[in-house]
Amino acid sequence: MSNPTIQFLGAAETVTGSRFLVTYGDVRVLVDCGMFQGEPEISAHNDEKFPIQESSINALVLTHAHLDHCGYIPALVKNGFTGPVFSTHYTQVIAEVVLRDSAHLQMQKAQYAEPQLKAMADAAALYNEVDVERAMKQFKAVEIHQRIEILPQVFLTFYASGHILGATFVVLEIGGKTLLFTGDLGRGSHPFLSGPDLPPAVKIDVVVTESTYGDREHETPITDFADALNQAIARGGSILIPAFAVDRTEEILFELRRLFEARLVKSIPVYIDSPMAEKVLVYYKEAIEEGRIDIQPEIAAQFKGVDPFDPGKFRIMTTVDESKLLNDMSEQSIIVSASGMATGGRVTYHLESMLPEPTNTIILVGFQAKGSRGLQLQQGAQKLHIHGNWVPVLATIADVQSFSVHADQREIVRWLSHIDHPAQAFIVHGERESQEAIAAKLNSELGWKATIPELSKIYEIE
Ligand SMILES: [Zn+2]
Repeated sequence: MSNPTIQFLGAAETVTGSRFLVTYGDVRVLVDCGMFQGEPEISAHNDEKFPIQESSINALVLTHAHLDHCGYIPALVKNGFTGPVFSTHYTQVIAEVVLRDSAHLQMQKAQYAEPQLKAMADAAALYNEVDVERAMKQFKAVEIHQRIEILPQVFLTFYASGHILGATFVVLEIGGKTLLFTGDLGRGSHPFLSGPDLPPAVKIDVVVTESTYGDREHETPITDFADALNQAIARGGSILIPAFAVDRTEEILFELRRLFEARLVKSIPVYIDSPMAEKVLVYYKEAIEEGRIDIQPEIAAQFKGVDPFDPGKFRIMTTVDESKLLNDMSEQSIIVSASGMATGGRVTYHLESMLPEPTNTIILVGFQAKGSRGLQLQQGAQKLHIHGNWVPVLATIADVQSFSVHADQREIVRWLSHIDHPAQAFIVHGERESQEAIAAKLNSELGWKATIPELSKIYEIE
């Protein structure tokens, strides 16, 4: 039999839609099965027919529970994929929360469509909650660091990537070749997650690496989180932090608790306004309480029996009515709400009510993709289009980038330098500029032969 091949069905010259198909003879393994997100021309890929017969895929390997890595799985199952989905336990349980939310959003869109468009909107929904439930039955939890045979003569090992709870990078052995997929690579500076592990000391033939922050170095945060909070509190208004429900919200609560306790920041009420964050928080608490492998051992010891995510005056807003209460609140407070790039979700309502007030502060804490409202705020927009209205931006916008859970250029290259000259390296999961920057560094500093793969193209493994 000839060599295995790899085909990039997503995250090629873009950040989202991670889907990599490895084929050897008639064996097909898909690594990640993400949704495309962002600008309409990118998210339109979700509606295209999957380029491979879904039923012909033998197994799926999932690196972590972010939507751009797992969001298409229920559609794959709906269209005929019956094989196992291998992931860690926490990837599985968080993916279920993320996928249910995704199904809910898609059905909601269909529900609010004009009557004459309803049938079309229903059809446009990729999947519903029943499809998610079916897909979850195919998940198989695998321990980190355990090498298992997932198909005859195909071996899989997960390693901690330190990106979010349960997140991994993957070593896949197939057809006599060893492939390493970085998934999303953490920075080793997460306040309570451990990792990333170093690449294993085995011969790696092919590396498929992310490059989200490939063209930049985080080094000095633009504004320190504590400084941003203190300045915001001094302004007298309230504070809004748009944040992803998975991991970023937990990091922020963890930091707020620490800053309040150390009296580095005045303690004020904190509201989490994201039903998804509430569910995910349960898993994060459990992982720390049980001292799971993802958690730094010192943190697990320190918080035995203590809630690491309770900053004091703290409340989770579950229902829409509770969420609306926040808009009439006169007391100075911190609202943490999703989505993290303000592209949708409850945070858009808070922006609408808070942006026109000069004493308020919006603190940005994450990657803001092209086309997002978050990026417009980051770039100093004077007004923002929300729910059909132009909203003036009079509140202060603070940009705190110290929370990143993606390695930057130097960190990616340093981590990859532990791998001894793979025959091939493919750069994925980044905007074009980031991919080019990482490719150039790998070629010049490590003497690698890095390729930026084209969408859908098949590459033979050398
Ligand atoms: Zn991710």
